[in-house]
Amino acid sequence: MARQAEQSADSMPQTDILVLGAGIVGTSVALHLARRGLTAVLVDRQGPGEGTSYGNAGIIEGHTVFPPAFPSNVGTLLQIALKRSTLADYHLSFLPQVAPWLMAFRASSRPERLVETAHVMRPLFGRAVAEHETLIAAAGAGRHLRKTGWLKLYRSDASFAALKPEFDLAATFGIALDPLDIDGALALEPSLQPVFRHAVFWPGAASVDNPLALTRAYAAHFGALGGGTVKGDARTLRRVGRRWRIDTADGPVEAEQAVVALGPWAPDVLEPLGVDLPLGIKRGYHRHFGAKGNAGLTRPVVEADIGYCLAPMQQGIRLTTSAEFAARDAPPTPGQLARVMPYASALFPLGEGVEATPWLGSRPCFPDSRPVIGRAPGQPGLWLTIGHAHWGLTLGPVTGRLIAEMIAGATPFTDPAPYRAERFLRT
Ligand SMILES: Cc1cc2nc3c(=O)[nH]c(=O)nc-3n(C[C@H](O)[C@H](O)[C@H](O)COP(=O)(O)OP(=O)(O)OC[C@H]3O[C@@H](n4cnc5c(N)ncnc54)[C@H](O)[C@@H]3O)c2cc1C
Repeated sequence: MARQAEQSADSMPQTDILVLGAGIVGTSVALHLARRGLTAVLVDRQGPGEGTSYGNAGIIEGHTVFPPAFPSNVGTLLQIALKRSTLADYHLSFLPQVAPWLMAFRASSRPERLVETAHVMRPLFGRAVAEHETLIAAAGAGRHLRKTGWLKLYRSDASFAALKPEFDLAATFGIALDPLDIDGALALEPSLQPVFRHAVFWPGAASVDNPLALTRAYAAHFGALGGGTVKGDARTLRRVGRRWRIDTADGPVEAEQAVVALGPWAPDVLEPLGVDLPLGIKRGYHRHFGAKGNAGLTRPVVEADIGYCLAPMQQGIRLTTSAEFAARDAPPTPGQLARVMPYASALFPLGEGVEATPWLGSRPCFPDSRPVIGRAPGQPGLWLTIGHAHWGLTLGPVTGRLIAEMIAGATPFTDPAPYRAERFLRT
């Protein structure tokens, strides 16, 4: 109640735009705003890149065609239900809460919907590597970028055969791919053991060897352009007159516009404002390992039909898992990590674990596997860049460019209509 009585004071520190959340998405948004001459204050309760953006596999997926889909195979579903699958895990107590989201995800996984999503997402994926390269060059972070593509491996003939629609659509999009036999894959990555039967090399993907360092480099460049990064709790955001105000460690700051880029924490701010969107999460784990002898990887390698990735990072070989459906703040239950370990160790000579406990993060996911980039419904001056799911690292810079063009009133490089939040609102 006291907040409603607040008055906008002339002495209040002001900026053009508040950006809430300094993950790869919010940091890229702030940087793009600064590059257009707008003043922005980037607010986070911790340092840039220390949330979900810390722990990903570092892949910039310029080549991605289809999003992950709800399993259509009864045997796979049964394995998941029995908690024996490496592809997905869940907390039983969370199922009633996540059921509507899973049903919507299943509906979006119909073949024709996946093709529609592939078309809707292509303008973003298609520019993802180039937009990173622009920011990486400006931020002087080139040492983190590898343009060595991505290698996907398959143990099952059926999984490989099921890729035909993806290959066909990739061809119509003009995306390069190279199906390889075992020898072809081992020529690219000689430290792998031939435990797989098929491989696909996607040369259009890039990767980074330290996602945290990359976000920090973008934040430092934002600072060099005059932007301010401050500690603060985004949940203090409120409307005061025609402005948005937030409390920070440096005191309150106001702006006419604010961008919510809080990843999986976006509902903490949006729900009290009455902006109710079906943002779910897919939790994922990682742990770093050394490599035995002289073994090494020059690019991320995924065993797609097992459901894990090995990505070479500065900290070691980062083993990441696929989706766990559990409450965002529930304690970690890294059973999937244990389940994929025998497969990963058979593929690559993993050494000792680097950390004692695995890292846990929450991919912020809408059921249609598309982000929301645009205005917050019913909240003038509030913008959303949320729900980047499996591709927040990939899409951070391209999202930053798109929203900055919209905020600045410039012509967007692509039609932003498919990414509007209104697609979830009932009419
Ligand atoms: C295991 C795993 C592997 C992945 N691999 C890849 C990959 O290879 N390639 C790819 O493109 N993507 C990948 N992803 C997805 C990617 O990491 C995410 O989509 C991305 O990090 C989301 O970025 P974000 O900026 O939206 O969110 P975040 O990085 O989570 O940023 C949100 C920020 O908001 C801050 N915040 C939260 N609450 C508050 C508050 N109340 N006040 C102030 N600040 C607050 C947090 O501290 C955080 O810094 C992976 C994810 C996981 C979990």
